[in-house]
Amino acid sequence: MTDTTVATTETLRARTRAALDRIGVVLPEGAGLHARTPITGDDLFPLRASNRVDVETAITDAAQAFRTWRTTPAPVRGELVRTFGELLRTHKTDLADLITVEAGKIGSEALGEVQEMIDICDFAVGQSRQLYGRTIASERPGHRLAETWHPLGVVGVISAFNFPAAVWSWNTALALVCGDTVVWKPSELTPLISLAAAHLLDRAVAATGAPDGVHRLLLADRDAGERLVEDPRVALVSATGSTRMGREVAPRVAARFGRCLLELGGNNAAIVAPSADLDLALQAVVFSAAGTAGQRCTTLRRLIVHHDIADRLLSKLGAAYRKLPVGDPFLDTTLVGPLISATAAKRMREALEQAKAEGGKVLAGGSEVDTGTNGAYLTPAIVAMPGQTAIVREETFAPILFVLTYRTFEEALALHNDVPQGLSSSIFTRDQQEAERFVAADGSDCGIANVNIGTSGAEIGGAFGGEKETGGGRESGSDAWRGYMRRVTTTVNYSAELTLAQNVSFL
Ligand code: NAD
Repeated sequence: MTDTTVATTETLRARTRAALDRIGVVLPEGAGLHARTPITGDDLFPLRASNRVDVETAITDAAQAFRTWRTTPAPVRGELVRTFGELLRTHKTDLADLITVEAGKIGSEALGEVQEMIDICDFAVGQSRQLYGRTIASERPGHRLAETWHPLGVVGVISAFNFPAAVWSWNTALALVCGDTVVWKPSELTPLISLAAAHLLDRAVAATGAPDGVHRLLLADRDAGERLVEDPRVALVSATGSTRMGREVAPRVAARFGRCLLELGGNNAAIVAPSADLDLALQAVVFSAAGTAGQRCTTLRRLIVHHDIADRLLSKLGAAYRKLPVGDPFLDTTLVGPLISATAAKRMREALEQAKAEGGKVLAGGSEVDTGTNGAYLTPAIVAMPGQTAIVREETFAPILFVLTYRTFEEALALHNDVPQGLSSSIFTRDQQEAERFVAADGSDCGIANVNIGTSGAEIGGAFGGEKETGGGRESGSDAWRGYMRRVTTTVNYSAELTLAQNVSFL
């Protein structure tokens, strides 16, 4: 049940300070930025923001360090990431505390985010011995045709508030073993976890003797991000955030023929078929839709449920939603923490109003929880919609689950794919044909297509990302490492003859 007692800003400040001290972070004194917490909605510490000169210096340092880092053997580069991963293990709870303070995640989800960082370090260390090229059969006698992967250069990482550390670590752990150097521009809403994570990486750099400039942190608003986007020394811009941001970033990077890796907004759906295990679907839906207060890129936003089971599922879902404890994310009993800001709460209220104007009916939630603080707490909402109206086709970054019903599988699939975004998707069914159709070429058009699990909570072993307005990037596992390297095709002639390809004769 919801407990409206929330820690005071003073208590949160002390807890934050203690975590930062244990990690060894000294806060940059000055002005320009404020660390704040969505738990009480108050400022915690003033911080010095990076200025134009800092951005220039950071890129110069990273470009300089790249000159030696690119020829450091990859398994030696892996040693840096292994050491960093060990430090993450040592400070797991401190880092999780900072994520809770700044992003408002409940304890288990904040710990999960740090675990993801540790996992990607382990993955990247293994990858450091597997940056495989290949030998290709040459059509010419006495020739060897080969493909090699080389380091790319400086990687600019721009990250969002909702995965304030994990997304950076996905990029950074892989970029570092691939021989790249990194300049990080985190969300202006989460400077403390960024300082802490970057400090631990700096410690690993010092401990392993890696070049000092392999990583630089910029604490600043979007201006610093824009300068990374414009600078031709930044070979790859890996940007995670809203589709609006991606729309601004992509053409500017393309204009200078830089490389872009975009991880943008989602509008994820789950189809619940008549054969589904409803208890399993229920648990998955509640976590995917209401977990992280609806602030994951993979949050379930659209439930497409078969007409015959809709009433049954919705009555169970409504009951589960009414029991969801909303409140201070540091309380063990809380499952839904605050929204990131009053603006996010306003957007949620406006989206609910628009949904009603478009014929929607609020079945549960959507009301304010008064904690007596400036924190923005709302109960997760379920809204039955008459169709896929304008508001359903948008990503509102808050816990609103729109419900649509269907009668035929083809109708469900058409509804599913008829949105501009293409990140994550799932189907709950025990019908094998439906499950296979959903993941087939003419099924879900998303980068992630799940069966009998929800849309959120991906493992790091798979490549992560989505299609359409989600941006097309892939990060984390599988062969995502290739995005951080450049490919070289080499033909070596070890014969005494010059043979031209395609039997061309000349001279
Ligand atoms: P946001 O777009 O407001 O900000 C993201 C980052 O981009 C911040 O660091 C910001 O300073 C920077 N930025 C904004 N405009 C910029 C510009 N013109 N040039 C350069 N940098 C710019 O996003 P947010 O509110 O922090 O995060 C929520 C959004 O991120 C949601 O849409 C969510 O779906 C998305 N997201 C996507 C993924 C994914 O992997 N697909 C992961 C996490 C979050």
